[in-house]
Amino acid sequence: MATIKDLQCVICGRSYRPQEVQYTCPVCGEAGTLDVRYDYAALAQSLDRDALSHSQQEERNIWRYKPLLPLRPEAVVPPLSVGWTPVYESARLAERLGVRQAFVKDEGRNPTASFKDRASALIVARALEQGVRVVSTASTGNAAAALAGIMASVPGMTAIIFVPATAPEAKIAQLLVYGAHVFMVEDSYDVAFDLCMQTCLEQGWYCRNTGVNPFTTEGKKTAGLEIAEQFAWNPPDVVVVSVGDGNIISGVYKGFYDLQQMGWLQRIPRLIGVQSSGSMALVHAWEQGIAGQDMQPMPADTLADSISAGLPRDRVKALRAVTATGGAYVAVPDAAILAAIPELARLTGVFAEPAAAAAFAGAQRAVESGHIHPDESVLLLLTGNGLKDVRRAAQTVSGGVRVAPDMNAIRQLVTKMELV
Ligand SMILES: *Cc1c(COP(=O)(O)O)cnc(C)c1O
Ligand SMILES: [Zn+2]
Repeated sequence: MATIKDLQCVICGRSYRPQEVQYTCPVCGEAGTLDVRYDYAALAQSLDRDALSHSQQEERNIWRYKPLLPLRPEAVVPPLSVGWTPVYESARLAERLGVRQAFVKDEGRNPTASFKDRASALIVARALEQGVRVVSTASTGNAAAALAGIMASVPGMTAIIFVPATAPEAKIAQLLVYGAHVFMVEDSYDVAFDLCMQTCLEQGWYCRNTGVNPFTTEGKKTAGLEIAEQFAWNPPDVVVVSVGDGNIISGVYKGFYDLQQMGWLQRIPRLIGVQSSGSMALVHAWEQGIAGQDMQPMPADTLADSISAGLPRDRVKALRAVTATGGAYVAVPDAAILAAIPELARLTGVFAEPAAAAAFAGAQRAVESGHIHPDESVLLLLTGNGLKDVRRAAQTVSGGVRVAPDMNAIRQLVTKMELV
């Protein structure tokens, strides 16, 4: 099992014992998110990379990595099966992008249909370990659905959710279906986030807020672990991730980082973060060389609701993930994000929500700008299922012919069709 060595502030480097702090660095405040650190030498000694791959064959979910997660071996974990999502290679996608090889990893296959299940599953496992019954989060939708769904799978737990009242209908419906208590805050996600945090501190609820709770990164690192293992410890040159608060890209990086520290991975892929040009705080900071702790709130207005964040909560880690790997941040307009939805679906068969399809639009941008080279292999992390936001998807397509209910009418239509 992975015993936590300490929690280290990403800004000042102060080190805390696990019981000493729960959320962010008391000295640096909210931007001072914490790295969960382990004794890597001891882990490397007690675990064997190839034995892990073989012995955990049955466990086709994130718990195959339990020895690398901050849980006791006997820890009870929620029953829904999170992670071990499929990776597909697509020659057509590679050709379209102008790269040597292209892959997609379909996170929409998770139980609540987004990447966020990875963090929520670990947070709920830790809450169970500590006997906590009420967990709350602010969310643009997917983190909330993940928490609500995973908590619904465990008896006796209560999820309390803060969402901006503008969250897509389907996402709010999903929360209510799972039986969560839902506060629809009549303001932005950023405001809902602060209200959630304050309420958790006042009420003593466990707060899952992205980035602020250091274990969200630990849950999300399972994607990095999986990519490494699915590629037989020789991952693609570049991984492209859409970015809002920056917790996914930080988590993917942390997974690779842990493996590298243990000597299981020789090379970490370059990470390319994609934002909408309507919500591009991290692109701006990266281009201008502004440190995470000095970032100021920027406008956040994008139809890709899952990556709308004026002041990304995990900004310090998110910038580090890109700089440490020699990657880049790119911005794409909303029109390109929308266009990416049907194009990606037709190239790969994977239907992605706007924020997920943004990875495809961003990969195109990164190839154009020389951040991805034609001789490289690229993996797009498709973070959420297209059914999460059907209304937006419907805006990108037309067609469908009304037809009278008889065979003559059908035959007439068929003769007019051009089948490949
Ligand atoms: C949350 C989310 C993102 C962005 O993750 P951050 O940690 O906020 O950067 C991207 N895509 C989808 C579908 C999401 O739900
Ligand atoms: Zn600090």
